[in-house]
Amino acid sequence: MKTKASDLRYLNPSLGLADPHEAVTAPGKDIMVKRKGSGPSSSKCPNCGTVHSRAVLEERLYVCPECKHHLSMPSQARIATLADEGTFLELDRDLVSVDPLEFADLRSYRARLQEARRETGVREAVTTGVCRIGGQRAVLVVFDFAFLGGTMGSVVGEKIAHAFEEATQRRIPLVSVAASGGARVQEGMFSLMQMAKVAAAASRHDRQGLAFVSVLTDPTFGGVTASFASLGDILIAEPGAQIGFVGPRVIEQTTGVAPPKDSHRAETLLQAGLIDLVVKRADLPSVIAYLIGHLRKQRSTDTGVDGLPPAVKRNRLPAWQKVGLARHTGRPSARYFIARMAARFLELHGDRWSGDDPAIVGGLAELNGLTVIIIGHNRGGTPEEKAASHDGKAYSEGYRKSLRLMRLASKFRIPVVTLVDCPNAQASYESEHRGIAHALARNLATMANLPTPIVSVIIGEGGSGGALALGVADRVLMLEHAIYSVISPEGAAAILYRDAGQAEAVSEVLKLTAQDLHSLGIIDSVVPEPEGGAHLDPAATAEALKSHVLAALRAFSDVPTSQLLDNRYKKYRHIGQGGKFWREKVRSGLSDVFGLLAYAVSRMEKSNRKKPQVLESAPRTRTEKSRSPATSVPRRAERD
Ligand SMILES: [Zn+2]
Repeated sequence: MKTKASDLRYLNPSLGLADPHEAVTAPGKDIMVKRKGSGPSSSKCPNCGTVHSRAVLEERLYVCPECKHHLSMPSQARIATLADEGTFLELDRDLVSVDPLEFADLRSYRARLQEARRETGVREAVTTGVCRIGGQRAVLVVFDFAFLGGTMGSVVGEKIAHAFEEATQRRIPLVSVAASGGARVQEGMFSLMQMAKVAAAASRHDRQGLAFVSVLTDPTFGGVTASFASLGDILIAEPGAQIGFVGPRVIEQTTGVAPPKDSHRAETLLQAGLIDLVVKRADLPSVIAYLIGHLRKQRSTDTGVDGLPPAVKRNRLPAWQKVGLARHTGRPSARYFIARMAARFLELHGDRWSGDDPAIVGGLAELNGLTVIIIGHNRGGTPEEKAASHDGKAYSEGYRKSLRLMRLASKFRIPVVTLVDCPNAQASYESEHRGIAHALARNLATMANLPTPIVSVIIGEGGSGGALALGVADRVLMLEHAIYSVISPEGAAAILYRDAGQAEAVSEVLKLTAQDLHSLGIIDSVVPEPEGGAHLDPAATAEALKSHVLAALRAFSDVPTSQLLDNRYKKYRHIGQGGKFWREKVRSGLSDVFGLLAYAVSRMEKSNRKKPQVLESAPRTRTEKSRSPATSVPRRAERD
């Protein structure tokens, strides 16, 4: 091993040292990069084989005009498409790789580096800098696959780590665009260690509550995917990009079995719940600008909407009729309400674990200028959509997706709005095996402690634990004809009468209507629906719902987080205690007690007149005490 400490000086970016073997003169400080990319004068599309000139490719953002395949993009062209014009200030331009191990295979590493610099026109496989994206300051990290396969050696790792530190110090988001074969073999274990270094730097940036948007392009493998590039708050892939840890060719070589053609594709990863979005190259700037514009600490939930719209008085409908309205095929779904209520909505996908359940929809939305995360059960509108989203009966992946979105909300203190509409969580062997109970429990605990306001609305059918797992909130609203129950009327009838036909009768005693639940103190307010039900005027329902949600959110705009969490804990610790139902119960209970006391006193007086000394000396046993009328009063009465 001939590595000397002096060869590793480039590990400290503050030294700003250039490789003494570097042919190009390194400027002394950060400079603006050219807006036009360099690289080969023409490229062949690896998908359809058509050869395109560089001019055509630059014009089309390196997307094949024939087959729409997203080709590798030179880093300078990529920067030009993402950074606002004239704003990119390069960092660490004078950091270039040396050859710490004096590595040589067919050719020396040093020769390969020089060739890569000559052919790509860039000095390393990654370019970093500070810029503006959609007018907002950000640190940008861009890989160039043409430079030694975008591999991460010591200098690449150093530049990335420093980019995160720069973003942390400036308190701004970081956006990275990866294209990498993984570790740089020519730097041996120095290369492997970069994974730990960049992951640590990304983690420090994360702990400061700053946003990190990671874009994965074709191809991204190995130590880059398995370190910082997978740690983004949001993971975006370009269409058709191959992404993974071990590439398909290596898998085939080591196992002798070729993985399916789509095994590493962006679209497969989206279905597997591993990334948030697949975004076409042309749309990336606006999507990234939207994300970094909203993923920032929210200071207030002041929506500017004061007070609630006037409640409409109408006749109470029988519970069974409300069950019918809540299940009406034309009843607006969560997706409908989101589309009507939010000015903009970016749906995010996946639980980053095992799947993307279409039964739960969630994402980042703008509500009257306020950034919110909306999560809802998605039952779909058409029969096909209903089948695809299994009628809102979510699996554990769905609840883990909501959990992930809530954690995103927690990091940036973004208020959460949930729209509850599921007959029950998925009931099947598969669902049990995938840990539905654990997922529901985790949601309840997370929502109980989420350090940001939560407003939950029962919009249709709220059934059992599957509904409550999105329904723990500071304020629970319910549409006038929605229902919310521990079990479906049919299920209850089957258990109690062994006859599902008794569902109508049971629906009344289950107390599942909005009005009943308001009286019981289970929900906080009822949102009026148009005469005859939400399905007759979905737009008006959405309008009313929006006003109520905005008013509910505003109520928390000045509440400190500790108080918010305290109040939420107390709300569920004493659930129902404050409702009309309990007040009535306590009132009638107290009047019974007072009646009994009056009776007892009159008996005592009569008895005293006869044998006063007996009463004074009679000892009271624990049994007698426990039978005394006063103890039959609910303990809650004392607190009321
Ligand atoms: Zn093509």
